Amino acid sequence: SAGSAQLAAALQEALAETGMTAAVTVKITGCHGFCEQGPIVHIKPADIFYTRVKPTDARAIVQHLADGKILERLVYRDSTGRPYPRMAEIPFYAGQTMLLLSRCGHIDPEQIADYVATGGYRSLTRVLQHMTPEQVIEEISLSGLRGRGGAGFPTGKKWQAARRAAGDIKYIICNADEGDPGAFMDRSLLEGDPHAVLEGMLIAGFATGSRQGYIYCRAEYPLAIKRLRIAVHQARQWGLLGSNILNSGFSFDIELKEGAGAFVCGEGTALQASIEGLRGMPRVKPPRSTEKGLWDKPTVLNNVETLANVPLIIQLGAAAYRQLGTAQSPGTKIFALSGALANPGLVEVPMGKTLRQIIFDIGGGIRDGKSFKAVQLGGPSGGCLTGQHLDLPVDFDSLSSLGATIGSGGMVVMAEDTCMVDVARFFLAFTQQESCGKCTPCREGTMRMLEILERICRGEAEPADLADLERLCRVVKSTSLCGLGQACANPVLSTLQYFRAEYMAHIVEKR
Ligand code: SF4
Repeated sequence: SAGSAQLAAALQEALAETGMTAAVTVKITGCHGFCEQGPIVHIKPADIFYTRVKPTDARAIVQHLADGKILERLVYRDSTGRPYPRMAEIPFYAGQTMLLLSRCGHIDPEQIADYVATGGYRSLTRVLQHMTPEQVIEEISLSGLRGRGGAGFPTGKKWQAARRAAGDIKYIICNADEGDPGAFMDRSLLEGDPHAVLEGMLIAGFATGSRQGYIYCRAEYPLAIKRLRIAVHQARQWGLLGSNILNSGFSFDIELKEGAGAFVCGEGTALQASIEGLRGMPRVKPPRSTEKGLWDKPTVLNNVETLANVPLIIQLGAAAYRQLGTAQSPGTKIFALSGALANPGLVEVPMGKTLRQIIFDIGGGIRDGKSFKAVQLGGPSGGCLTGQHLDLPVDFDSLSSLGATIGSGGMVVMAEDTCMVDVARFFLAFTQQESCGKCTPCREGTMRMLEILERICRGEAEPADLADLERLCRVVKSTSLCGLGQACANPVLSTLQYFRAEYMAHIVEKR
């Protein structure tokens, strides 16, 4: 959408005109994460980093490259005008620890050779040649890896439960149905480094005794789906999927399923129903998916980012991995920064970084000289935090005590002029629309809650409406069947907790 494809074609043309085609290769990569500054051209090995490049800049870029010079006008500058010609020096990147994103923006994701040349499939080789399934599960358990989809459940424990479950047929599902407004971590990983996710699935399959994997990816991610299809095809060609992989006796294959865009299909049991060809609706748990999941067989359901962590853990070893992040939330986390920031984009930091470090040091703070008001974490199921929480470490446990959640990693940052009642209304309108309608509290409750919020926003509400809204929040939260209903009140409750005066202003102003 930013014109990268036209830019790549213009660069090819300019290189051909100057006779440099044999000396310089143009590679299309995944996202660099610096979304506001795209399209980006990164020249290697000189490490020259150009931002906001247009196809009309191609000739000048090639000419400067031939002359051994830097094209100053395309170099990133911060708000003081200081230039940063090298990627690693730009504050947006300097504050990050890019492990899962280390290949995104640097390899061609449609070439398996690029992945292999940067250490890809080495963890799988090591696992198949030197480890037992039990040792793999032990390593993942020791690493302390917790599911990155939002719940933070220990991955090793989940794999152990599936391995111990009775039956010969077991499944691995990669949940790529990322649907939170403001979240694009999984999409970028799949578009920029799809083989890392396939490698994680293969290792999960070996560890749990599964021979079949599914990737459930939303159809709204056409580039991710295209690159996944290419990755699966190339992995088969290279003998990394199918029968007797690397002569180990282990067989595993992966099928891609496209979701039709229902947010509730990100919920594990609804997702499995959708793969089975049924309407995507959650069911009561237990039984857990590790006992009775897809087609009633033991199933491991892991999110994209969780699976991308697996080859990294095998490569680093559990002890080294645990050095990253906090004791209870080891590793790094990818966050999608959006909203009123100077530098919206995709960032990867060790768990435990503070909101201030993420929003101000990396995200560049609030744009247009405005001040920070709040941040919505964890999408429509998450909560809003305020300036008093900026020095809070971001990990699974620190946030839950404040009514927020790390969620899958979406962070929507709001400036001083944002109406927090309107924010709550926006998120509730989303969950109301996405409610599958199976259980009454969520189906009816979200509709009534939304009606009240809309009345408040129009200035037509009475003080009694606020009491009704809070009561409905409690009822829907405690009686809904699945996580969508159980968490849909969080944006309302957290804004009521921290911005109650704004609700009152809407009501009082009318009197
Ligand atoms: Fe469906 Fe909402 Fe009930 Fe979940 S809580 S089953 S989304 S109606």
